[in-house]
Order: sequence, then structure tokens, then C-alpha cells
Amino acid sequence: MVRFLKGNAAITAVNFKFRGYKIWPGAYRTDVADAIARGDIKIGSAVNRNAAASYRQDQDRLEIAPTANFSSTHDQGLILHECTHAILDMRAIGTHSGFEDEAVAYLAQAFFLTQTLGDARATPDIPVPLSENTKNGSGIYQEAKRIAAKALRTGTYGIEEKDAANLVLLVTRHPHYQDAGEYPSNRFRRTFLNNLVR
Ligand SMILES: [Zn+2]
Repeated sequence: MVRFLKGNAAITAVNFKFRGYKIWPGAYRTDVADAIARGDIKIGSAVNRNAAASYRQDQDRLEIAPTANFSSTHDQGLILHECTHAILDMRAIGTHSGFEDEAVAYLAQAFFLTQTLGDARATPDIPVPLSENTKNGSGIYQEAKRIAAKALRTGTYGIEEKDAANLVLLVTRHPHYQDAGEYPSNRFRRTFLNNLVR
């Protein structure tokens, strides 16, 4: 895990500002990697449902399924998505929009995948209508990929508000995130119980 975060070349491209959230390569390579090495973030394998990976803000645990494959670009993208949740938790920004938190994670994943696959130039700049917000989340992926490809193609650091708003709206309207209105962000503070079970 630490080797992936420190050594993967494509993470260098994960660098953007989305509303008030700033994401940069060192947040993965140093902040998350060192927190894992220290044990402030624990690695587990108890993922929810069929996810390849998940992150628990209350226990500071990064869950990676035993079936996850570190040499698969797809799985690397999912792991990077979860590490993005860890980054936002480590910033101790307090209770904030879970929809925005997810949008930032999807966008980070899209920057990573677009850079890995090298298709930023080939990705057409077409807005994705809300009707494409399919159950499997491909509408969110597609829009995140469009925004990331545009930013990489044009070398833009700040994500335009209309793009940010559309991505957040797609997350908000997706059934999977119905209960994701608010996420905590408290760095490594844990309740007594969460300390016991982690
Ligand atoms: Zn997520």
C-alpha cells in the first residue's frame, strides 16, 4: 500500500482545487502513506457490500478487499478514491458535505485513471446529462473523467464551479449516496468504542 502511494507515477497528476478542497500528490505520497506506516490509519479487509475498498472516518481504517489487485488500474483507482476520503478526514475540517467529499474522491480517481491511461487528449468534452446517472455510477465516473481530462488537457488547476456543481449534483441524486449528506473530518480522533474495535 505504502509502496503504491509513494511509487506510482500517475499520482503526480492528481493535483487540483475543487471548491475549498485542495488535493495534491504529496497528500497521498506523504500524508496518507506516513499515517499508514505510523498506524494512525489501519489497513483492514472488511469492505462494505461488493466494494474493492472503503474508508471509515470514525475508525480511521482503510479497508481493502482480499480480492483487490494492486496491478489492476481499475482497483488502483478505487484505492486512490478511498485514500482521498482519508486525506479529507485528516484535514480536520469538521462535519461537511458528504456529496462534495465523494465528488472530490471521484475526481481524484478520474485524474489518476486519465493520467494512467493517457487518454486526456482523446476524451471528448461533452457534458453528461443527469439522465445518464445510472445505477452503477457510470454517470458520475463519466462526468468526473470529462472534468479531469479537460483540466489535464488545458493545464487548469482550479475546477470550474459549473463542473463542480454538476458532479456534486450527480452524486447527490445517486441512490447509493442517499445517506451521505454529511461526513465527519476529525483527523485521528476516535471514540473509546471505535478505538476498541479498530
Ligand atoms: Zn467514496
